[in-house]
Amino acid sequence: MHGAPQDRSIEETLTPRSVAVIGASEDLTKFGGRILKSLIQHGFEGAIYPINPQRESLRGLACYPSVQRTPAPPDMAIMAVPPDAVRETVAACAEAGIKAAIIVTAKFSEAGDEGAAREREVVEVARRHGMRIIGPNCLGLISPVNNLALCASPALFVPELPPGEIGFVSQSGALMATVFDRAITRGIGFSHCFSIGNQADLELCDFVEFLVADPHTKVICSYLEGVKDATRFVATARRVHDAGKRWIIVKAGRSEAGAAAAFSHTASLAGSFEAFAAACRAAGVLVMDDTDAMTLLAALLGRFPETDPRSTAIVTTSGGSGAIAADRLTDGSVPLASFAPTTVTALQVHYPAELCTNPVDMGAAERGLLTGVVSDTVDIVLRDPATDIILTPVTTVPDIKLVAEHVVVGEQRAAEAGYVKPHILLLQPAQSGEAARGALKQAKALYTDNLDEAVRTIAAWQRLASLRRRAAPERPADLPAAPGIGRGGAIDEIAAKRLLDAYGVPVNRAELARDAQNAAACAERLRAPFAVKVISPDIVHKSDVGGVALDLDTASAVEEAVTGMAERIEARLPEARIEGYAVQEMAAGDLEMFVGARRDPQFGPILVVGAGGILVELLRDVAVACAPIDATAALELLNACAASRLLGGVRGRPPLDVAALADAISRVSWLVHDLGDRFEQLDVNPVLVSTDGCVAVDARLLLGTGSDDANGAEGASA
Ligand code: ADP
Ligand code: MG
Repeated sequence: MHGAPQDRSIEETLTPRSVAVIGASEDLTKFGGRILKSLIQHGFEGAIYPINPQRESLRGLACYPSVQRTPAPPDMAIMAVPPDAVRETVAACAEAGIKAAIIVTAKFSEAGDEGAAREREVVEVARRHGMRIIGPNCLGLISPVNNLALCASPALFVPELPPGEIGFVSQSGALMATVFDRAITRGIGFSHCFSIGNQADLELCDFVEFLVADPHTKVICSYLEGVKDATRFVATARRVHDAGKRWIIVKAGRSEAGAAAAFSHTASLAGSFEAFAAACRAAGVLVMDDTDAMTLLAALLGRFPETDPRSTAIVTTSGGSGAIAADRLTDGSVPLASFAPTTVTALQVHYPAELCTNPVDMGAAERGLLTGVVSDTVDIVLRDPATDIILTPVTTVPDIKLVAEHVVVGEQRAAEAGYVKPHILLLQPAQSGEAARGALKQAKALYTDNLDEAVRTIAAWQRLASLRRRAAPERPADLPAAPGIGRGGAIDEIAAKRLLDAYGVPVNRAELARDAQNAAACAERLRAPFAVKVISPDIVHKSDVGGVALDLDTASAVEEAVTGMAERIEARLPEARIEGYAVQEMAAGDLEMFVGARRDPQFGPILVVGAGGILVELLRDVAVACAPIDATAALELLNACAASRLLGGVRGRPPLDVAALADAISRVSWLVHDLGDRFEQLDVNPVLVSTDGCVAVDARLLLGTGSDDANGAEGASA
């Protein structure tokens, strides 16, 4: 008897013990034909029920006219029926007591409103009976550890499904099959692969949670186009991490233009991909941009979960290939190992002393490229204390297969002596390398024929090793309980800086003047030298329209500046609403930095820091994080920007006060966090950084109306 549907775990749902193939056939041009073939061929041990009213038997199995007529209710069904027949077929499955149905059929929510309505209907029908749905618009699943292939891809027409430690969840079915195909061709196996399609019912996180609990899976890989539920995504990512597993994601859409809103720089600097990537970083998830490198890294991680590949050694059959590899690793910021003296001495058995350095060119061995030289060299280098990982570019030499085999022999010898280190063989020969590829696959050695992929893999591994799942930041004790904000819309410089001040971000003193005369009076209360700026909801970049005057020494200079400014703006922007002029103190600083934030509709407030002033959009030198962050995380964020090199002091000039800047960044992140769902965008540009502190001299904030008015009381803070 089946358990009540609501009690059914995701484990039970996704590990069927019997399956029905609706529309089963012997015709390999049909979905049902290919699915049945793969299902039988790979030795699924549970019951297989082909469903086809026209046939008594198919491929030697009894065939049934409908899912209701099978001897026992199947656990899972897969269907590729026409769109119009899906609802009825799903209803039949649900009524038959099937636990989960895979809908391969497309033309649902991905194809517009009508399809979306049909999809909702189908989910409703299934839910009524507690049946779960995978898809629609998916390619099904491949579970090598269960000898189960419920997928119509020809990628499954292989002698066996190699099981492995990688779980793969893909939003694209075609890509799932391709990644599977490419991986098994080089001997990399999977625990389970799921094509999740439109995720009408079971969604990404359901599958990932299954893999978190799955004892066969060590590393989870995903291909994603978008995230349906960001909160659940982040919670799931944390669970992956807490289970001691790793999650690597390739996400499409990185090149998508930033949000269109022209209000601030932030919108164009941190689009939805950056927000996603920031959320992943904070949760310890690695984002990559290439599926081949993703699978190679996942395979390496499955074998060497503890490795932090900080320095790489190159052992090659060709000096040229080794030199190019060294260049590319360096371009990819992957450091090369400098061999320990013991390694150098050991290598001298085969090489002249001056050649015992990284990269090692085995072609330059005194006795030539003998198999013994290959295995010895690999063995010696793997024992090198300064080497964490080796890359072995093998070029088109005589006996490539033998050379490749002896690379593996060397690796095994080192492993037997306790030097278990990762090793990537870069097999560069094309047709002449076929036999070597076969041998490497047999020996379960990890290889690639693509230098770029090898470099990306090692670089990504280094990034992963440095990813730490962040604990929630601690709220500084001196922050106000809530920011005092009133109306929504664009908040001008003076009001925005008042909020920053309340949060402990240093700002320069300023007063709002109505006109030139009033400006002079304001200046009397401030310390010279002064700056004057126009305040208008219609002017975003004040200096572009002559709305900023700097270095004014006297009150009368301030008065004159305002008069001139008013005339200039009247001439250029007669329509602009002028609310007044900010008279303020000049602040000193050696570097202009940018601190901004925007609210991502999925991941909440996203903080952006980088080179400021007019350089911000020119250089686009920014780093992005989910707010709030503490000062330590802010410091790391700054270090991710090229501008951080300027903060360290250039050419004998003393270093700037990064600690003060990091503290200010953290405080800004709390402010935007506290603004809640009223927060839209904030630009603090520039923050002037000096050797002793920092000052925000310009700020602009955009607030929405928000849904809660709890923060709406004006003047909650000074
Ligand atoms: P906007 O960005 O709207 O053009 P800002 O207020 O940022 O106007 O001013 C433009 C530039 O003027 C700043 O990048 C900074 O270099 C300088 N500046 C503005 N206010 C001050 C100030 N109070 N002290 C020192 N420099 C200032
Ligand atoms: Mg500015």
